[in-house]
Amino acid sequence: MVATPFTLEVLPSIDPATGKVCGSFERTSPLLAPKFLLKAREVQSAWARVPLKERCARIGLLKHKILEAKDSLVDAIVRESGKPRIEAKFADIFVALDTADYFSKRGPALLQPERIPHHNTAAKMKSGALFYEPLGVVAIISSWNYPLAIPLSQIIPAVAAGNAVLCKTSDFTPECGSLIAKLFREAGFPEGLVTLLQGSGDVGQALIDARPDKVFFTGSVFTGRQVAEACARQLIPSVLELGGKDAMVVLSDADLDVTSSGAVWGSYTNCGQVCLSVERLFVESSISEEFTRLCMEKTQKLRLGPGNNPQSEIGPLIRPQHVQRMKELIADAVQCGAKVLCGGRPRPDLGPCFFEPTVITGVDSSMRLFHEETFGPVLAIQVVRDAEEAICLANDSEFALAASVWTRDVSRGRAIAQRLRAGTVMVNDLISGFAIAEAPHGGRGASGWGRTHGRAGLLEMVHLKYVDVDRLPGMEKPWWYRYGGELEKAADAFLRFEFAGGIAARLQNAREALRTVFRDHGF
Ligand code: NDP
Repeated sequence: MVATPFTLEVLPSIDPATGKVCGSFERTSPLLAPKFLLKAREVQSAWARVPLKERCARIGLLKHKILEAKDSLVDAIVRESGKPRIEAKFADIFVALDTADYFSKRGPALLQPERIPHHNTAAKMKSGALFYEPLGVVAIISSWNYPLAIPLSQIIPAVAAGNAVLCKTSDFTPECGSLIAKLFREAGFPEGLVTLLQGSGDVGQALIDARPDKVFFTGSVFTGRQVAEACARQLIPSVLELGGKDAMVVLSDADLDVTSSGAVWGSYTNCGQVCLSVERLFVESSISEEFTRLCMEKTQKLRLGPGNNPQSEIGPLIRPQHVQRMKELIADAVQCGAKVLCGGRPRPDLGPCFFEPTVITGVDSSMRLFHEETFGPVLAIQVVRDAEEAICLANDSEFALAASVWTRDVSRGRAIAQRLRAGTVMVNDLISGFAIAEAPHGGRGASGWGRTHGRAGLLEMVHLKYVDVDRLPGMEKPWWYRYGGELEKAADAFLRFEFAGGIAARLQNAREALRTVFRDHGF
């Protein structure tokens, strides 16, 4: 990268397409984390009292601010993450707007208190309800690959639910971080409700040490483990959105033209730096040759270049060390017997971080490419005998984020989806589940725990409170002491009444059971 001097107090904003520093942003001192947290607590207690409808209306205003600022947001996303402008619009801007749209409209209904009907006769004398209370101050620590979509799809439901947010965006995307802060200021959210912290891992660590009420982390397995440990030490709950090694299963009846386009886009969009990108493709042998040929042809037509050039279809990787990693993963695969059909090389003529989109076949489980998250523009194809073998190999991973199945037989696709170990399975599409506001996002195993997005993600942002009101307040409960043989007999009758099969057996015990309840009331 170009050696531009900058002090330790500022974060450089670097364009990965050129390696040039395009600006600098103030670095947050980790020492300030406790102060920000205190301020956030103060502001949050007032924000939680703002009626839910008003909070959601404010999110509607944020949506307008995002739309107004669309072009400058896209400029910053492209400059700092390197992706083509269209990807910034379809992914980052769309997800940000749609999240705001969804929670501004649906938030009030999603967080309405809920009656809890009771199935048990004894509990019918009580009226239960569920309330959704804010957690307090939540910490959101995000990655750089979708520098607007990822933080905003978490900050928006957090504030809708009545929380304050301290968010640390990645040090690769400080301009995007500062623009997020600006959006919330301009939409009129109270000062201190959403605070952006700029910095590296030390700031993230300090944020957790300041004891927020929950931590939402998006990033690598390596850092996720450190975050989980730091949270566990303080008994802070966490949601971890970590890496993926998503499988794409191509069955012999798939539409090969559409499916190969899906495979190519799913492997290279955002230069493959997507937690949900196709990392392992399993194709049935009867169609593998034709399918691979189509993938290769389509890959070779792709235009590599800086994201701000409207003709570019694939931008750079984020930093030169990621180029080095691609080289190493491909070299390892080739050494173990895989074959590079096209691409596979860095392109220093274009810039320090460009790497050709690569189709590689003959991949198998002996290779690093099969197990480690690639996070780069590599379409790794493995030919399988049949769907059974594909399912077995797809599930042979410590990751379990998402997967896709491609077939003309939709009911077979649905059946296979049930057998794939993943948080999301798409049939005849991929990645776009992330942009469906109602769809929960998250994985298991090394892909993390908990959910973001949709109602499931919203419920991670609240404390569930159950409130129960007794319908017979003037009556003591039969189990409040005065234990003895008579009560025990009544208890047996009650258990039979409640749980014995058949109406006759239940009725037989009903009188005795009711005596248990109303023993002081002359029954
Ligand atoms: P990292 O794990 O390197 O960083 C994620 C965030 O954590 C950054 O803001 C980083 O700061 C911060 N951080 C680093 N160290 C610590 C620490 N000790 N305590 C607290 N925070 C810390 O991930 P990347 O940013 O490189 O993102 C790529 C990874 O994210 C991939 O594995 C990808 O699969 C995953 N990801 C998962 C998604 C999902 O939804 N499941 C979505 C998107 C990406 P900084 O980098 O500024 O130093």
